[in-house]
Amino acid sequence: MLRMDPDIILIGEIRQAAEGVSAIQAAMTGHFVWTTAHVNDPYEVFSRLEVMDPALLPRALTCNHTLIGAITSQRVVPMLCPNCSQPLAKHQDEIPGFMLRALKSWGDLSQVHVRGDGCDTCEGDAIVGKQAVAEIVMTSEDLMEDVLKHGVVKARRNHRRKPGSDKSMLANAMDLVLAGKLDPVDAHRGVDKIEFKDKHQGDAE
Ligand SMILES: [Zn+2]
Repeated sequence: MLRMDPDIILIGEIRQAAEGVSAIQAAMTGHFVWTTAHVNDPYEVFSRLEVMDPALLPRALTCNHTLIGAITSQRVVPMLCPNCSQPLAKHQDEIPGFMLRALKSWGDLSQVHVRGDGCDTCEGDAIVGKQAVAEIVMTSEDLMEDVLKHGVVKARRNHRRKPGSDKSMLANAMDLVLAGKLDPVDAHRGVDKIEFKDKHQGDAE
């Protein structure tokens, strides 16, 4: 691939160390590399690469913002049918208590809706289409230093607190929930466990 001197290299998915090493080497030699990896959270990509081969893909190598410039993560969530979705207020009993308590910490629930029984508009699915919920992490020297010195959890918290940083996938999903476009149960199942807002953002400590 490198002999062809491409401007952009797309490696479909990194599943093994050999692919990870190829991606890093291509980036090191000045190529623009796009690739994907399966991880629970964007900040875990360094751990995922390290686990594949700690000798070839250690954090000391991959935690370099000039090599990994950006990480995006996404989940796809179902959008509620605007015609037959039901206000949460009428269906609070169907939501688990722990989820309802956590939901309240995110804001005003007056617009929140849940799946209805289906209608002609949604052909009985109660759902009309899907939408991505994403988090984009623009890496920096500070972030990489934090991952190396303090680990992923602290690095993630510090990075999200910086002005201009994107919200977490859950926080972005909660915007859709509060707007009545996403059923909170679908956010919980498809994106992340709904936590109390202050705990999620690390303000509770
Ligand atoms: Zn409908």
